[in-house]
Amino acid sequence: KTRPMEYRVAQLEALGRFLDDKKQEILEATELDMGKPSFEAFFSEILLCKNELNVTLNNLCQWMKDEHVDKNLVMQLDSAFIRKDPYGVVLIIAPWNYPIHLFLVPLIGAIAAGNCAIIKPSEISKNTERLIAETLSCYLDSDCFAVVTGGVPETTRLLENKFDYIFFTGSPPVGRIIMTAAAKHLTPVTLELGGKNPCYVSDTCDVTNVARRVAWGRFFNAGQTCIAPDYLLCTIEMQEKLMPALREAITEFFGPNPRESPDFGRIVSDKQFQRLRALLGSGRVAIGGQTDEAERYIAPTVLADVLPSDPAMQEEVFGPILPIVVIANMDEAIDFINARPRPLAVYAFSCDSKIVNQVLERTSSGGFCGNDTLMHASLTSLPFGGIGNSGLGKYHGKFTFDTFSHHRGCLHRNMGLEALNAPRYPPYTQQKLGL
Ligand code: NAD
Repeated sequence: KTRPMEYRVAQLEALGRFLDDKKQEILEATELDMGKPSFEAFFSEILLCKNELNVTLNNLCQWMKDEHVDKNLVMQLDSAFIRKDPYGVVLIIAPWNYPIHLFLVPLIGAIAAGNCAIIKPSEISKNTERLIAETLSCYLDSDCFAVVTGGVPETTRLLENKFDYIFFTGSPPVGRIIMTAAAKHLTPVTLELGGKNPCYVSDTCDVTNVARRVAWGRFFNAGQTCIAPDYLLCTIEMQEKLMPALREAITEFFGPNPRESPDFGRIVSDKQFQRLRALLGSGRVAIGGQTDEAERYIAPTVLADVLPSDPAMQEEVFGPILPIVVIANMDEAIDFINARPRPLAVYAFSCDSKIVNQVLERTSSGGFCGNDTLMHASLTSLPFGGIGNSGLGKYHGKFTFDTFSHHRGCLHRNMGLEALNAPRYPPYTQQKLGL
């Protein structure tokens, strides 16, 4: 039922209507869940999803086509091609930080590739979870698409079933649980995981621009972004120069008291709030540091002189706290990055493109962005995904369609010209061996 292109297009168009009709409710639910500022919710949860939808609808016909491939001499009358087959029933498990985007973008690809899907939103972003559970079925064909809600026990039960593909976004420890469950049925997986994304700032750069671009990437969604710059690596001189520039950028973005700014979010849960507050003891609080438990507010914070052994450097920060680790030079920064698990993103800032290229060349990560943060993820023409500890597989744009398609190698032979096949049949005479 899900295979014909007309069916896929109808479901994708229905997803577009879901985003249009429910726009206000999405903004309200994400505001209730984590105080997500409406511009940030509109940009990340609605606009980027609509962009993915448009790219998919505009290209689906082309993507679905069989890809004809090179043949050898004896197959000149035959047809050799790659058929993009759906996997079957796919399971999409999403996290809470971009609760619409991170189930919808994979779902677009799953539908485009002709699959059925079960969607498991995060139970932590409970208002958005309810919105998805209550309204998505009004738009999609309920024979083929279902939402399953719940936390660990429900997801554990769900994972006992045999799926044809599992697309998981979340933390590396849960990623391991998912891959173990998938292994029981030999189910292929995509794991979009997290980690600590280093951001190297060289001594030759425009400090004001760096501060604005870093502060935006770190404090967007109150720092709860998988590709946020997790920590800065720079010399002690650059740390001195960056501090006033970061303070100025934070004041420019959120005013003198970010707590009163409508453009600065909150931490999603008490558990996350407690975890983040404990990281504030790392290094020295140079900017921010204020907290309010009742509101789950943590001010945009910059920690100076953080040591690699400090708590903020032991786990993914995933909140509005930016540790700065002082290094002597670029070589030390690169060694620092390479001594740790491979991150989802590496960032490098420098006016000298050779330096940016050196960091790109000598490190490994899911993605890379020179002289900015987050923006590489907004391009549907770039694959998005991790490597090593930050995940496996890739998506966005055509990469999502390919992820959810089995590339079936097909050869359709001509029934005639049997004489051409004679050399391969027994008896294997000396003559056939060329002896
Ligand atoms: P999480 O791993 O705790 O939860 C993700 C999903 O897994 C949720 O739906 C949850 O219900 C389910 N889950 C949790 N524990 C489970 C278990 N034991 N068994 C089965 N299912 C379980 O992640 P989170 O806290 O929701 O999200 C934060 C993490 O996600 C961060 O590490 C972040 O970097 C990462 N992330 C990655 C990307 C990416 O695109 N690579 C995007 C967003 C977030």
